[in-house]
Amino acid sequence: MSAIPLNLTKDQLTALAEIVPTPFHIYDEGRIRENARVMNEAFSWIPGFKNYFAVKACPNPEIIKILKEEGFGADCSSLPELLMAESVGITGEDIMFTSNDTPASEFVEAARLGAIINLDDIQHIKMLEDSAGIPELICFRYNPGSARTGNVFIGDPAAAKYGVTTEQILDAYILMKKKGVKRFGLHTMVASNELNGEYFIETARMLFLLAVRLEKEAGIQLEFINMGGGIGIPYRPDEKAVNLGEVSFGMKELYEEIIIPAGLDPLKIVFECGRMVTGPYGYLVSKVRQVAEKYKTYVGLDACMTNLMRPALYGAYHHITVPGKEHEPADTLYDVTGSLCENNDKFAIDRKLPVITAGDFVVIHDAGAHGHAMGFNYNGKLRSSELLLQQDGSIRMIRRAETIADYLSTLNFEKLIVEI
Ligand SMILES: *Cc1c(COP(=O)(O)O)cnc(C)c1O
Repeated sequence: MSAIPLNLTKDQLTALAEIVPTPFHIYDEGRIRENARVMNEAFSWIPGFKNYFAVKACPNPEIIKILKEEGFGADCSSLPELLMAESVGITGEDIMFTSNDTPASEFVEAARLGAIINLDDIQHIKMLEDSAGIPELICFRYNPGSARTGNVFIGDPAAAKYGVTTEQILDAYILMKKKGVKRFGLHTMVASNELNGEYFIETARMLFLLAVRLEKEAGIQLEFINMGGGIGIPYRPDEKAVNLGEVSFGMKELYEEIIIPAGLDPLKIVFECGRMVTGPYGYLVSKVRQVAEKYKTYVGLDACMTNLMRPALYGAYHHITVPGKEHEPADTLYDVTGSLCENNDKFAIDRKLPVITAGDFVVIHDAGAHGHAMGFNYNGKLRSSELLLQQDGSIRMIRRAETIADYLSTLNFEKLIVEI
């Protein structure tokens, strides 16, 4: 099972598109809320469970506000993301600041908000001390290197730019303790878009064992572990969503086997998932401009890779449906393209779809995370609007489309000439 159908008929889309031109992204509020509740319920045995929504996946304040109402925090990696979280009232330890290659100024802002600061490198200890000062609570991002195998999206941990190594991690905590830190967390993120639930159970084991080691060898009792994000979603029709109940059960068994006997209970466990929270409940809606016969048959949309770059960037599969043609046989082979002067501007290659004609709507599924967020302006393409399909069936615009004036606005500045 994949690709959750968009809860709008072709007639409804036609009426909507007369008011809000395609392309646009639309998110299903009811399903986002329901999914957040399923996640909270699956991990409800965990003391202080929280998912810090990875803001980068869908950086829209209205979405973050909905998730706040469902008990989520925010995982931020830059100053604008921190300010967005603050703008919807997420502050203090409901924010995780997980960044890399971080400027000192952002540590200062994160500290001002009282966010949990998650350090990605041992050099950040001094940087933090010299800028924001040593906080009461600190977290380190752990990179296990060759002790774990990664996956295609994040790569081999040993070749990843993130985190503190196995050799460095103990000294990092001991140094922080010496500098006066009183409370400690431990973070890792070793996979992205991972569909194998076992992988997360193994990550829990790795962190639990490290928690025991930190207690034994450094006398540091962790307050929380952060499992990172990376829970995948079934983009392809033959893929299955991660069974959160099974992951939770596996983690609980390990908690009882490792954490409780070591006297480390209660230990909070948190996640910072983005993709699985909003991904399946966001849709890129576009219209067909032309169907062109060349050496292959090309469906040309009014959306392009500036609206959703995952297929072009990673060769990622996104399911495609044609509203009103759900019951017609998918027997015609198409490449579904955008209008960029880039031949990798394709949403699908050799995809079997119903017969498509100009003017049809085309819905690109699973675009609710790392979709609009990765938008860009190449070829003078303007970012689309974002809409929210609310629980009462009404539709609210939560970000307007960019205008040409927006695009040209950075050309309007004070004359600056530097003589060197
Ligand atoms: C990207 C990222 C996340 C979110 O990843 P998803 O795949 O969207 O769940 C969480 N934490 C960190 C540190 C990240 O870089």
